[in-house]
Amino acid sequence: MPKNKKKELPKDKFFKKVEEMKMALTFDDVRLKSGYSEIMPDQVDLNSKFSKNIPLKIPLVSAAMDTVTEHQMGIGMALLGGLGVIHKNMAPEEQASKVAKVKYYLNGFIDKPICVRQNQTVAEILRMKEEKEFSFNTFPVVDGNNRLVGIISRNDFDFCQENSVQAKEIMSKSVISAPKETGLKKAYQIMIDSKKKVLPIIDKDRKIVGIYVFRDVSRIMMKNPAGYNTDKSGQLIAAAAIGVNDFERLEMLIEKKVNAVVIDTAHADTKSVIETLKEIKKNYKIDVIAGNVSEATSVKRLAKAGADGIKVGQGPGSICTTRIVAGIGSPQLSAVYKCSKEAFKHGIPICADGGIKFSGDIPIAIGAGASSVMMGGMLSGTKEAPGDVIFRDGRQWKIYRGMGSIGAMEEHKGSRERYLQSSSAKKELVAEGVEGLKPYKGELNKVMFQYINGLRRGMGYVGAGNIEELRDKADFIRISGAGKDESHPHNVIITREPPNYSIDR
Ligand code: 5GP
Repeated sequence: MPKNKKKELPKDKFFKKVEEMKMALTFDDVRLKSGYSEIMPDQVDLNSKFSKNIPLKIPLVSAAMDTVTEHQMGIGMALLGGLGVIHKNMAPEEQASKVAKVKYYLNGFIDKPICVRQNQTVAEILRMKEEKEFSFNTFPVVDGNNRLVGIISRNDFDFCQENSVQAKEIMSKSVISAPKETGLKKAYQIMIDSKKKVLPIIDKDRKIVGIYVFRDVSRIMMKNPAGYNTDKSGQLIAAAAIGVNDFERLEMLIEKKVNAVVIDTAHADTKSVIETLKEIKKNYKIDVIAGNVSEATSVKRLAKAGADGIKVGQGPGSICTTRIVAGIGSPQLSAVYKCSKEAFKHGIPICADGGIKFSGDIPIAIGAGASSVMMGGMLSGTKEAPGDVIFRDGRQWKIYRGMGSIGAMEEHKGSRERYLQSSSAKKELVAEGVEGLKPYKGELNKVMFQYINGLRRGMGYVGAGNIEELRDKADFIRISGAGKDESHPHNVIITREPPNYSIDR
């Protein structure tokens, strides 16, 4: 987004009147006006940005919460074209390893494969496997000069009767390998033809320079990478949360090639966030998203401090109690509008964080000015969200809790820091969130299909062919309580809930 000149948009008049009345609105207060359209929902272009240099193929991002985004969600979201922000309620090393899992998910080619030496005993290899928690069972075997001499796989271990024998005694010596320049497609064909699950890649001296693993390669070949959100090196895009002055964590994340970091706080318009932001922008080449704020003046300060993206939302979240406990915050629709208006001048994308209850809130948030929408509760019941499925009252559930809930703050320093209580004793914690359950919804794909297509439909009604057009063309009408009631199913006993509409009870 280049720096932009002021332009008058249809929604400006609407929000001017709202401001004149000293009011602020949220999603349920409005609907988008429908307009002349030549756009079919399946034709719309959903490309957008999370921050200046982080693209999105769909404008949806999963929240940096410990019941929403770890590597499974990060992978799932990026495969769908979106993005996951991996939470920070864990040690920096652990968070960095989860980032690595997202980054290496599409890595058909492993450039530093784990090899074993031909004179290592089976017992030593098994011990190493256990200590390092390797989940794979196939290892190229090399001599003292790192030259490929064989390969050991699960069968060799399973049929080995004596663990004191050396690798060279049980390895398979007829190894199919390929030269350095072998690409993904060629490797796939070689593995299919030879029925080998691993293909070592060697240089002219037979030194091992990498391997292809069939499971990864076939996953890449079978799917449609055009829809994935990938970076220049073809890896999935990953983002992660950090705290104020969290430089050790930042360095570990950068080492694992994280694409962007989010300074994740409940209030970003503070000296400490601004100083952290400036320090990162001065010393590292990485996109930094700062959040959260809900006022235009805050956006201005963060923009001047170098933010590449700004997250808006103070208290709209489904598990938040900030507005009730602290009495602050602006209803989300007005917050997104005000902040986007300012961010537009600086060429910075806004992410609308929190408060999405139905897919219809997504085009509304974008129409108000956001470039992307962050969701917690809408994704927390999926298989990809961390945590086990719980069986209760004849139904399946998953735990969803606020990062400022007592449970999250008691367990993790990261949560206490987010709510400025890092030095508080456990008994003195002041919660800004609750802990609860969400119905189990199954696979992320299915849930996201409904959200993405809800957005597409909204864009079709507005006549917007892409995300920028949705922001430019959107206009709103204020609806009454009766209008809201009319919008939901009424005067009917629902006998079958469609997958995109249910009221959590
Ligand atoms: P949801 O999508 O469930 O409506 O909201 C998710 C967002 O709520 C998160 O991305 C985060 O910004 C915010 N959030 C998460 N936990 C808490 C909390 O305990 N208190 C508050 N005030 N906000 C929270």
